[in-house]
Amino acid sequence: MDLESKLSEIGKNLRSSLIRELLKYASVPGSISFGGGVPDPETFPRHELAEIAKEVIEKDYKYTLQYNTTEGDDELAKQMVKLLEKAYGITGIERENLLFTTGSQQALDLIARIFLDKDSICIAEFPVYLGAASAFRINFPKFETIPLQDDGMDVDYLEKKLKELDEKGLVNQVKFIYTVPTFHNPAGVTMSLEKRKRLIELAEKYDILILEDDPYGMLRFEGENLPSLYKLAGPDRVVLLNTFSKILTPGLRLGIIIGRADIVRKATLAKQAADLCSPSLNQRIAARYLERYDLFEQLKPGIELYRKKKNTMIKALEENFSDIPGAKWVNPQGGLFVWMTLPEGFDTMDMFEIAKEKKIYYIPGQAFTVDDSVSTSMRLSFCLPPEEKIIEGVKRLKEVVVEYGKKKGLI
Ligand SMILES: *Cc1c(COP(=O)(O)O)cnc(C)c1O
Repeated sequence: MDLESKLSEIGKNLRSSLIRELLKYASVPGSISFGGGVPDPETFPRHELAEIAKEVIEKDYKYTLQYNTTEGDDELAKQMVKLLEKAYGITGIERENLLFTTGSQQALDLIARIFLDKDSICIAEFPVYLGAASAFRINFPKFETIPLQDDGMDVDYLEKKLKELDEKGLVNQVKFIYTVPTFHNPAGVTMSLEKRKRLIELAEKYDILILEDDPYGMLRFEGENLPSLYKLAGPDRVVLLNTFSKILTPGLRLGIIIGRADIVRKATLAKQAADLCSPSLNQRIAARYLERYDLFEQLKPGIELYRKKKNTMIKALEENFSDIPGAKWVNPQGGLFVWMTLPEGFDTMDMFEIAKEKKIYYIPGQAFTVDDSVSTSMRLSFCLPPEEKIIEGVKRLKEVVVEYGKKKGLI
């Protein structure tokens, strides 16, 4: 059978992600990887979760081993309402404003299904979180990307872009503005309060929804907390995506959509068609965990671990790269990533060949573009390698940059 001729447009377009391809190399013995964007497994409260799991399987088996409603566990919803208030000062959340999803990834997919068509325009940041771009792509929207600056999205550029679209009569086709305002993946930057307010103003002016993806908000290791866009503008303007992946464990595959009841309702119907419900067992485990433990206290050692690793990486970058003019990096206040940019002329994808030889891995910036364009940047994740490997890895990275730079006559 000729598979190509049978496949749908979506099926034909599916390709393996660059990140997955590149990370295959990271398991070579002796390699150091700054590639994987996953939490350190030592931060997972495995004993607590194991005890809860046993208990809820045996005692709550009529719930945990059964089909669930599409909306998800009401007990988890109760805990979530408390957590949103404590973590973000968000109040007034009713059950109908919450939908539990199979990871935030499913939330992104459901949002794409209910909002995007072929002629839709989707505004995203540049660089963009790859998982979101692949989810949105499913309905072939057009992308408009807005560059990120050290204090978040370039809102002047956004304003210009929206004005342009409005003049062309296209602004109604803009379905939402997708943003990761706090500790961006991959760029590490956080949107300032001023920019948050201006973004909301622009969204109000052109009547566009904001999709706020916030997996890292509780992983701050320095600086002041900023209000979420949802907190500032409310459910009429913002849909907030949250997840247990970075604050508890990604293995539970638990995400949450927080938004206006009618949007949540549509997403619920889309979810029904996709997977009926998310695992009851995982939701109840998370609910009991939140009931029994103070998540903030539990997170402290993990945050401290990330803070140390981040500082080690930044120090190593300063020590190794200050003699490369034009090389720069973002020093994040939370999250899991450092975004490094090399001088004009570098192509971090092309450079990856040398990185492979030296067994040091990173994710080339090209992976975070919507159009596969060449990039001088790369994402360095500090969450997995131990500190001595971070130091050694940055040394290797310097060797890679010097070798590539000399080969191309750039330094
Ligand atoms: C990790 C991450 C997520 C979480 O995805 P899950 O499907 O919940 O594991 C969502 N958005 C961004 C930007 C992320 O970095």
